Amino acid sequence: MKKTPVEKSLNELGEFGLIERLKQHLEHTRNERLVLGIGDDCSAYAMPEGELLLTSTDLLIEGVHFRRDWCNLYDLGRKSAAVNFSDIAAMGGTPLAIFLGIGLPPDLALEEIDHFSRGFLDETAAAGAILSGGDTCRSGQGLFISVTVQGSVPCDQLIRRSGARPGDRLYVSGTLGDSALALLQLSRGQTPPPELAVRHHRPTPRLALGRQLAQRGLATAMIDLSDGLFADLGHILEQSAVGACVQQASLPWSTAAREHTARWPEDFSALLQGGEDYELLFTAAAAHDDALQQLARELDLPLTAIGAITQPSAGLCLVDSDGRTRPVAPRGFNHFFG
Ligand code: ADP
Ligand code: MG
Repeated sequence: MKKTPVEKSLNELGEFGLIERLKQHLEHTRNERLVLGIGDDCSAYAMPEGELLLTSTDLLIEGVHFRRDWCNLYDLGRKSAAVNFSDIAAMGGTPLAIFLGIGLPPDLALEEIDHFSRGFLDETAAAGAILSGGDTCRSGQGLFISVTVQGSVPCDQLIRRSGARPGDRLYVSGTLGDSALALLQLSRGQTPPPELAVRHHRPTPRLALGRQLAQRGLATAMIDLSDGLFADLGHILEQSAVGACVQQASLPWSTAAREHTARWPEDFSALLQGGEDYELLFTAAAAHDDALQQLARELDLPLTAIGAITQPSAGLCLVDSDGRTRPVAPRGFNHFFG
């Protein structure tokens, strides 16, 4: 990457200078299928034959999704890409191209923009995708990030939210609630322990898991966990027209999360409601138990059975740690509810 004098500001560089600068970051990135990348009115990508094009968009708005005083811009760049790749993972797909729309407050230092771009491009490279376009504007207030990702999946391997059937088991990858606990501590002005903080600032899209579940035909329905376990499970239940029963005692919590709630039991509900885990929640026929545990070993990623899919009339219920069954609302984070 060419060096721009540090005193150079966003004002001097302008929109096209900044796009040029981004392109320089990309100098060594090549992808044979990307016929046209940054620089024309559209990008052009040669789709693999027999595959479906997957497309998803996410907005990240300063003050709503992140605070610049709580994170560094490198991590924010990585997270902006990661949360989009997580949507591709949730369909069983492979990421191909990513598009970055940014609204930049004029006082943002070029150095900070560079950190953001680095993070975004590192996460993109880790996912095997390529930055293929975007849009760059000035923002009157705060940093705006709009990311669109495209991926592909073989036509017969797409995993939707609508495929869960009564009798299926309900599985989740990794651990739950770490990110939510970190956010809770940040909002109280506390410093979360690094094990929790990293899960909030640097989520890992479960791409290999999503792809393998699709390729091996192991999952009947899937979603990535962004709004919280019950909220996202609610989407599977609604779209599959089924119910579910979750065993609280089976929920996978990290050591750091256990330590946190041992000290602050009042935070237990935050742990349960979660949010921004970016783990995969999926359903699978009971016959696939062994195949799933084999996959968990191969990926070195825990896959935990946390409950079962039931008849629609049973709704969503939770068996608490005392063995009592109670109905739960499929609610979690929602931008328009207080
Ligand atoms: P248009 O006027 O057609 O929208 P622009 O002048 O905005 O095109 O952008 C020029 C090229 O730079 C396009 O290929 C666009 O996709 C790309 N681009 C603009 N901003 C970004 C960005 N933030 N990240 C990646 N590519 C970008
Ligand atoms: Mg434009």
